[in-house]
Amino acid sequence: MHEASLVQGLLNLVERTVEEHNAQASEEQKIRHVQEIICELGLYSCVEPRTLTSCFELLAENTLADGAQLTVRKAPLTCHCQDCGNSFTVTERQFHCPACGGENIHFDGGHGLMLISLRVDTEE
Ligand SMILES: [Zn+2]
Repeated sequence: MHEASLVQGLLNLVERTVEEHNAQASEEQKIRHVQEIICELGLYSCVEPRTLTSCFELLAENTLADGAQLTVRKAPLTCHCQDCGNSFTVTERQFHCPACGGENIHFDGGHGLMLISLRVDTEE
């Protein structure tokens, strides 16, 4: 399932980030639990944020992020108009050039799920 692999990738990244932090942190600064994960979902990922959230609840069980809130934002996508060369960003899946109205738009990415920030607990 596409959603599950996106969420698993995100969780792996979160765990790695926490481990790296904890490796250098003093005992009081170590992260014990992740409260919230804020991420951005590409416009072209064809995934419903709600599906991600329910996947996350299952996969996060027994990890540092067990019970954490997953906040999913839409990532702005950078586009280039092939007709007039204009560059712009969109946050909705609706593509025409704001400068010339052309629909010959080229864009990069917009498929993945990106980790933006974490809210964490340092107390048991
Ligand atoms: Zn244009």
